[in-house]
Amino acid sequence: MATKANKKMLKSILLIMLAFVILFVSVTGYRLTTIMLINGEKYQSLASEQQLYDTLITAPRGNILDSKMNILATSDTAYTIYIIPNSINNLQDENKKTLIKTTIAKGISEILEIDFETALGYTEKKTSYVTVKKRVDKSVADKIRQFTADNKDLGIARYIGIDETTKRYYPNDSLASVVLGFVGDDNQGLAGIESYYDAQLTGVTGRVVAAKNALGADMPFSYQVVEEAKQGNSLVLTIDSYLQHIAEKYLEQAVEANRAGDRGACVIMDVNTGAIRAMATKGDFNPNSPFTLSEADQALLDAEGSTYTKNELLNKQWRNKTVSDTYEPGSVFKIVTGAMALEEDLATLDSSYNCAWSIVIAGQVYHCHKKGGHGTQTLKEAMVHSCNPAFITIGQLVGTSKFSKYFEAFGLTKKTGIDLPGESISVYHSEKNMGPTELASSSFGQTFNITPIQLITAVSAAVNGGNLVKPYVVSQVLDYNNNVIKSTQTIVKRQVISEETSKKIRTMMQAVIEDGGAKNAYVAGFKTGAKTGTSEKVAQNNASGEVKYIASTVGIAPVDDPELAVLVMIDEPNGGSYYGGAVAAPVVSEILTEALPYLGYEPQYTDKELAQYALNIPSVINDDIATAKNKIVAAGLKTRVIGNGEKVLRQLPLGGQSLAKGGTVILYTEEGATEEPNVTVPNFIGATVSEANNIASAAGLNIEFTGNISSNGYITAYKQSIDPETQVPTGTIVTVYFRDTSAANVAD
Ligand SMILES: [Zn+2]
Repeated sequence: MATKANKKMLKSILLIMLAFVILFVSVTGYRLTTIMLINGEKYQSLASEQQLYDTLITAPRGNILDSKMNILATSDTAYTIYIIPNSINNLQDENKKTLIKTTIAKGISEILEIDFETALGYTEKKTSYVTVKKRVDKSVADKIRQFTADNKDLGIARYIGIDETTKRYYPNDSLASVVLGFVGDDNQGLAGIESYYDAQLTGVTGRVVAAKNALGADMPFSYQVVEEAKQGNSLVLTIDSYLQHIAEKYLEQAVEANRAGDRGACVIMDVNTGAIRAMATKGDFNPNSPFTLSEADQALLDAEGSTYTKNELLNKQWRNKTVSDTYEPGSVFKIVTGAMALEEDLATLDSSYNCAWSIVIAGQVYHCHKKGGHGTQTLKEAMVHSCNPAFITIGQLVGTSKFSKYFEAFGLTKKTGIDLPGESISVYHSEKNMGPTELASSSFGQTFNITPIQLITAVSAAVNGGNLVKPYVVSQVLDYNNNVIKSTQTIVKRQVISEETSKKIRTMMQAVIEDGGAKNAYVAGFKTGAKTGTSEKVAQNNASGEVKYIASTVGIAPVDDPELAVLVMIDEPNGGSYYGGAVAAPVVSEILTEALPYLGYEPQYTDKELAQYALNIPSVINDDIATAKNKIVAAGLKTRVIGNGEKVLRQLPLGGQSLAKGGTVILYTEEGATEEPNVTVPNFIGATVSEANNIASAAGLNIEFTGNISSNGYITAYKQSIDPETQVPTGTIVTVYFRDTSAANVAD
């Protein structure tokens, strides 16, 4: 027996030895929280041949943190379960050998949830080390330990081993998944940040060499640390978890409500620095189990007659659409065409253009979306109307040479260089291949393909004073002591347009929200700007025969001195409307309505907005009844008193919340006063503003309006904050979201 390699013994001794290593590195002040043995097979074979053990020590992978130092990805202790078939097969007693094999196979197949036959197969292998399962958690490892203890009489512990390793862990599950990416079985980065920054995160593997004493296995080891392991660096992202959360929440709701055929994407970018504050694709995946399909994708795979493969769907759910997809931006691009004409002094905001519905360029007829045409309009009005004939005219005025020069200057001919893998290149008409018709279609954002990240970077340049910045997601690299070893500085590639032109673009984008197709991007209390776009997916349409669209909107806020640009795109909306103004603009509104107060911007409501949207509820707790009533009535609200006490003990809704005019604040004046009974939340979807008001008051609820309620189109509710049929206390505020659904107001 002494001449045969005793793997278990070897493992134990190596672990003791490694404990010395840990002690050693601790004493020398080196931080090493977890160690991992790899290459088990290799050192085992070395052991039998040379009596020399060369062991690698892997340091833990660095963390990934958001801009507020919240952990997005970290490493947990995990365990690898292995067995030692040679030690079983070397047993002389055939009956005992069989009993041990079946006992092990039964035990590990149950605990590790693998097939019994597969487990039995492992015990038959002519090798000294078989990995049964990697990256199991402690509870599973404990069950294996218990199993070996329960079978002590068979000496099972000699044939099963447990190695401590690390396992990547993402505490927020799918949050920012397409940005973070994921790792493989050996903790190697396979996608996203995990892949792009793999070398930084991985750190440096250490090595220990140990020699076996010539007198035999029972003798102590001598060992030497040849190279110390070095823990991976951590990364601080520009992503803010809260902004990421609201971007994902509203994007996901829109992808579902519009039954998007090919998902949706959103980017929130700091227009001045290029820092990406949020970046999302929905539906996406959970990086803790990246090879599991989402429920929706599993259903697609399982559907009768499904032509999908699992790999195809996995690749889709891993795909970061904002950098890897290209699309025709459509009318959102009119921002860029407008900027060219203004910068070259070929137009002013008041230059006038005629739209007679159709325009003919080199024999090709182009129509405006408005039947009969817009007639004479200024540049600003043409932007508000999103009039194609006007922008074709402007494009012809700019000419192919200058158009191509600006197209390149706005960064649309090259990758942005964002620090993420898989960035696609754009496809466009080069200057020498651009005739009058290519120029015409390019002027309103069609017949060329760019990535969403290129588009939002170009729009950022158009509104930030003219600077084309490089977008980025990693702001700092930290060493294992959280010392900053590298910081990302904003890179301004060039100034494309003047501050003066940029200001004019902002003015036009504000007008598009106030009077044009982006009314649904409106944010009460804040001055913002936006431009919508709807484009056909030309390549896909040719293949399938049916027309598919991408609906998108880019918003900027605050419009006078923008900090944020928000791009939302819904790919293949199937929920009725496919216009950017109907499908994507409301999502921009929802996101900015929460993002701006979060970033410290104070809402400043106009009188009109105050009348329609939000009245601030005063806090009246501990006030006497008369004072409380006066305060609330002065705020434009009503009261209802419950109980016979003299002071207000409780109020609903609470002070500080906002409520539409005419809402009711319930004042409780007695401990144990009979509570108002719960009420059932009604369905507001499809209701007009006044209908919603009536529905809420009949139900004993308060209502808060958000979205677009002030334009002259057909305004209806499309979403509510509390689901219908939910039981809630009387007086609870339900937020109801409104948008204009009339095609004339949202087409572009
Ligand atoms: Zn027109």
